[in-house]
Amino acid sequence: MSAFKLVVIGAGPGGYAAGIRARQLGAEVVLIEKDRPGGTCLHRGCLPSKIMKRTAELARDAAGAEAFGLIGGGTFEVRMDRLRVRQKKIIDDQTLGLTRHFQALGLKLVHGAATVEKTGTVRVDLAAGGAERYDYDQLLVATGSTPASLPGLELDGEKIISSDQALWLEDRPASLLVVGGGVIGCELAQIFHDFGTRVTIVEALPRLLPLPGLDEEISKNYMRSLKKLKLPFFTGHTVADIRETAGGLTAAIRPVSGEGEPRELEVERVLVAVGRRPALEGLAALNPPLDSRGWVEAGEDFRTGIPGVWAIGDCLGPARVMLAHVATAEGLAAAENMFGGHKTVNYQCVPSAVFTHPEVGCVGLALAQAEERHPGSRANDFLFRQLGQAQALGEIDGLVRLVSGPEGRVLGGHILGAAATSLVAEIGLAVTKGLTVNDLADTIHAHPTLPEGIWEAALAATGRPLHG
Ligand code: NAD
Repeated sequence: MSAFKLVVIGAGPGGYAAGIRARQLGAEVVLIEKDRPGGTCLHRGCLPSKIMKRTAELARDAAGAEAFGLIGGGTFEVRMDRLRVRQKKIIDDQTLGLTRHFQALGLKLVHGAATVEKTGTVRVDLAAGGAERYDYDQLLVATGSTPASLPGLELDGEKIISSDQALWLEDRPASLLVVGGGVIGCELAQIFHDFGTRVTIVEALPRLLPLPGLDEEISKNYMRSLKKLKLPFFTGHTVADIRETAGGLTAAIRPVSGEGEPRELEVERVLVAVGRRPALEGLAALNPPLDSRGWVEAGEDFRTGIPGVWAIGDCLGPARVMLAHVATAEGLAAAENMFGGHKTVNYQCVPSAVFTHPEVGCVGLALAQAEERHPGSRANDFLFRQLGQAQALGEIDGLVRLVSGPEGRVLGGHILGAAATSLVAEIGLAVTKGLTVNDLADTIHAHPTLPEGIWEAALAATGRPLHG
């Protein structure tokens, strides 16, 4: 006898994690997915972009190989068709792995579009044709999000594209205007720059990567790195107008303040990366509570207020954190709560990993946030160029910024530099477990490695700097 019937709409990293945990705890679980399991992350986000990033890194390294004593290499050209074969193979393998895992666990995966018909019943219009109906005791909305567009910059999927298309292009554009210098915009801008595309970024706010939890010093240094890489960007600007011309598209870029003359830029394609909107198709009859911007509202425990209906992941919007690993944490917590648990997610301890060059990793509070909440907080920085390993790698741009409270508790970490997305894990542990800068400083770090940068910043925070 199963504990109850759970229907999950959306088999992304949030929805399927919830399904797995609920199944382990004894529920009968039906996962409904209109695409393939794995969600945006596996098919239109994290994984295809990481595969592209690897090719971009190799192209960059090959172009700079002579400085490392490698003479006689050929010139390389990115072949999008070959890259796509590699992307497809890896993603197909991962998808198959997930499907088999669901089968082994006894999770039923249904391929089709879900519509809530009435309380307790979901209809699925099957991808293979026909329809099926599933009754539920508990329903989890894990429908995710889709790219947002801008008025005047409507996505046509050909010339004006979103990340969905940019990750699967059949040919490499000669030039690309990226609108939005957030996470998606900067990651993709750098990949195409390394592929040899002429890229320009336009960002409305005064800094690139303007994430509230990312310390301004990191954005400042990141922008400096882009200048060195000769990747042009305009902060405080937006695109006023786009029109088709003989050469492709002509974009008028103007300051957000409205002052000054717009400048014109001819480009082959425009990538719009200005955020996302909730995916709510099929939920009209359910009528979930929405906030003023249309995102689903749920409590700390992920209940929506409708009996037996829960929501997690991107569809909750940026008031939580729209990241795959957050959706997974929320899914696991929601499933346990369906069985009487009291799980919540600690949004203060979520690491962010931005796969730019140099990479960015951050967790916890930025200095400005820490000063506001804990007067007397401070930041200690250590530069990558002072690390032997960074010099050996030829990756000397960047810094570790450690933010600590007046009592020495580690409140945040912000890293720009090689492997920053992995390095941030150590500071994530420190923030989550309430460790102090002394705890980090008293931990022996292997030499010569990049984590020594965290150790050196911690030593500086204890007043005992070694090389800084
Ligand atoms: P975002 O909110 O991170 O960035 C959008 C940017 O567009 C903002 O900086 C905003 O100021 C700018 N913008 C908005 N309107 C503009 C305009 N008219 N002109 C110029 N700039 C404008 O959104 P995103 O980059 O689309 O990413 C969407 C979500 O996906 C985010 O929540 C992000 O965290 C997540 N994501 C994360 C990763 C990662 O962690 N590695 C990777 C991809 C996506």
